[in-house]
Amino acid sequence: MPVVRIGFIGTGIMGRSMAGHLLAAGHTLHVFNRTRAKAAPLIEQGAVWHDTPGDVAAASEIVITMVGLPGDVEEVYFGGTAAVPAGQGIIDRSRRGTVLVDMTTSSPMLAERIAAAAAARGLAALDAPVSGGDVGARNASLVIMAGGDREAFARVQPLLGLLGKSITHLGPAGAGQRCKLANQVAVAIGMVAWCEALAHAQAGGLDPAAVQQVISGGAAGSWGLTNLAPRALAGDVAPGFMVKHLLKDLAIARECAAATGIDLPGLATAERLYTLAAEKGWANDGTQVLYRLYQASEGLAAIDRLSPREYCELMSMLHPSADDGWDRQIAADLAAGRLDGLIANSKAEIEAGLAVPLETILEEAERAEGRS
Ligand code: NAP
Repeated sequence: MPVVRIGFIGTGIMGRSMAGHLLAAGHTLHVFNRTRAKAAPLIEQGAVWHDTPGDVAAASEIVITMVGLPGDVEEVYFGGTAAVPAGQGIIDRSRRGTVLVDMTTSSPMLAERIAAAAAARGLAALDAPVSGGDVGARNASLVIMAGGDREAFARVQPLLGLLGKSITHLGPAGAGQRCKLANQVAVAIGMVAWCEALAHAQAGGLDPAAVQQVISGGAAGSWGLTNLAPRALAGDVAPGFMVKHLLKDLAIARECAAATGIDLPGLATAERLYTLAAEKGWANDGTQVLYRLYQASEGLAAIDRLSPREYCELMSMLHPSADDGWDRQIAADLAAGRLDGLIANSKAEIEAGLAVPLETILEEAERAEGRS
């Protein structure tokens, strides 16, 4: 394959690995990312840094974008923001004949708009979102779903082959994004499925890690169960794929479903649970963090099984003003078997005079037991 001048915008979790494969194959790489430091490893390997998306586009024959949200896609393609002034976007600065490939998971309607604006300037634009996660990006084994002009697709297909193992053209502009949304509906509901399966096993007294291994090989097997459940069970919530990005995808999928008049109750459930996860402050964690919701509820169920005296003993060791948030912390610690450390810390608190004296709490507990 001849050397191609490739522009790459968005060198985060996915983009940095993908851009690295293109560089390793001998192509010339021009890069831009909102936070320059995240492009540093690529620059060390020979990529050329530019200060705006437009500068990248002007230097490239093919421009690939892998940013975060539809708003980010809009900014790098059209400009007109504080960070990318009008005239400095990809569409304005690309030379005639350039092929633009947006690999971000974004809105099909935005993909259609980009394709139309590109065509008006003698450019071709494809939407080509991916599946396969950070692992797929690192191993160049992504599944790539493309929409847009067929000739342009044929031109970039050899480059996409450096990033993925399955590359499919599904139809006109937006078709790749629509396929990716279908993928995300399955992914999100599948996450709920394996979280509930493992919580169910744990509540029944089984070792969830053993259950994960066994059922991965059967009919319940899935990418998430194989790759993400072990991270969740080990308490590793580093992204991978961030909760905020999945919520973005589910919101777009919900809008598209509403536009076509289809009801997706499973999607609604997954979105509600992930919204809860984001409200707990987990938006930048990996999607496997969802399992924590089930651990906490398991812990809350354990609290319900305590007698008032046992509960109060526990509470007295923790904090005098136990609000709901604190209850959940106890629940999580109970579920994770972290009681010893918890009680030791709390004893230190009591000694420091920060907690209500144990005797006071126990008197309350006895009164409560007498009443019941
Ligand atoms: P990420 O780590 O946040 O990477 C996105 C990168 O784009 C970041 O480095 C970000 O800059 C940069 N960026 C965002 N907006 C920009 C802008 N306006 N101008 C320039 N740079 C901008 O996210 P990711 O996990 O790689 O995901 C990227 C896309 O792929 C998302 O749409 C996601 O839904 C999709 N996706 C992700 C996975 C996965 O497993 N991670 C799998 C399939 C698809 P900063 O460094 O400043 O934040």
